[in-house]
Amino acid sequence: MIIVLFGKPGAGKGTQAPLLAAALGVPTLATGDELRAAIRAGTELGREAKGYMDRGDLVPDAVILGIIKQALSEPRHAKGVLLDGVVRTVPQAEGLSKACAELGRQVDAVLCFDIDDDEIVRRLASRTVCEKCQTPYTGREPGSLCDKCGGTLVRRKDDDPEAIRNRLEVYRKQTAPVLAWYRDAGTKVAVIDAVGDVADVTARALGALQ
Ligand code: AMP
Repeated sequence: MIIVLFGKPGAGKGTQAPLLAAALGVPTLATGDELRAAIRAGTELGREAKGYMDRGDLVPDAVILGIIKQALSEPRHAKGVLLDGVVRTVPQAEGLSKACAELGRQVDAVLCFDIDDDEIVRRLASRTVCEKCQTPYTGREPGSLCDKCGGTLVRRKDDDPEAIRNRLEVYRKQTAPVLAWYRDAGTKVAVIDAVGDVADVTARALGALQ
């Protein structure tokens, strides 16, 4: 089972991913988390990605496809994986499809979390994330502690207003066309209303997969 979680930055993919993963019994893979871990570890991948990420630009497709291919070949992803914010350009969708075909696998569904820009700006302006386990929170001050692991909550550098505006523009230009690509490829695309209680959004997403 390979499911792509799709949507604007701040749509709630990172909040929904672990809830859906627990319900479906498969792990998640978030390229954003992998890249932030690489930056913290000071690897070459991290050094290459940092500038793009701080500006809110996309990291080059070749880098992302390297992460995706590596992840798909890992035994822990053999049963399935939820791809959180992983497919953000048409070349990434094409590359993922090719990598899946080589392994005799396929993307089973795309869940698109739908939300308007005003709500995104409001959410991201009040978002903090755990610097240790990356769990996102809305409306919790930097310096508070993570409920899950006790790590410190921090603001993401790319959640400042200018980077948010750029990320929404990047979404419109480079990421939104991916949905039409999947529809044309015959992949099931479900659009989920991403506004409301977290549990309600999870229930909508699980309902759409049935
Ligand atoms: P996220 O944590 O998903 O909001 O991602 C944070 C940042 O990481 C993005 O703004 C991009 O700079 C980079 N990134 C994460 N995933 C991708 C991807 N699939 N393609 C390109 N850049 C990505």
